[in-house]
Amino acid sequence: MFAAVLDPLQLTGRSATHVVPVAGQSCLLHPGAAQAWLGLQAAALAEGLHLQAASGFRDFARQLAIWNGKCRGERPLLDAAGEPLDALCLAPAQRVAAILEWSALPGASRHHWGSDLDVIDLAALPAGQSPQLLPAEYAEGGVFARLGRWLDSGAAEDFGFFRPYAADRGGVRPEPWHLSWAPLAVPALQALSVECLAEALQEAQLDDAAVVAAQLPVLHARYVLNVAAASPRALAAPALLKDDSTSG
Ligand SMILES: [Zn+2]
Repeated sequence: MFAAVLDPLQLTGRSATHVVPVAGQSCLLHPGAAQAWLGLQAAALAEGLHLQAASGFRDFARQLAIWNGKCRGERPLLDAAGEPLDALCLAPAQRVAAILEWSALPGASRHHWGSDLDVIDLAALPAGQSPQLLPAEYAEGGVFARLGRWLDSGAAEDFGFFRPYAADRGGVRPEPWHLSWAPLAVPALQALSVECLAEALQEAQLDDAAVVAAQLPVLHARYVLNVAAASPRALAAPALLKDDSTSG
């Protein structure tokens, strides 16, 4: 196991010194996660699955743009049932709760760490069709049903990946497509304290910041800590890189 500790700027997506481009792909990941991802892709290809990352590393500024866009009604905002909401008609606390059903607070996205990615199966996607990243796509009868079954079988765990949002735990809605590389994500979650998150948000031009600040410990418990633990199989997977190439 190599040391995989991120500093506060990396943890909250305010720097990108811990991620690298994945060879031939458009996403950025931590070097260890990238190596594990390439291994997972090769194993999937042998099964006829053409895995592609719909999203890997995402920085604070991007998450902030998503957040503020939803607050201002410039991006679609959905209720728990997936029905559109008018952001401007909601009280701030309701608006914050609605956004957090589907999107992370800036600074609190696991995509900041370089350990997490959203995965689709290009081989199953009809030409011209875009993935929506909806649970129905990964369930029986969905376009990515085969990928869903393959992930359910634990195939990704042999490469150190687990699914923090596999089930509805009353926080983040289920995301069967979201993979998390345990050797980095487990220590990153431990390091992302309420204080660390508060510090990241202090300087940001965050909409509804007063509600967020007042509720931060509760939001942290419900949407950051309240995830599935890494499975023993994912934790037992060999870390491929011996050195921590992000230190120094
Ligand atoms: Zn994701």
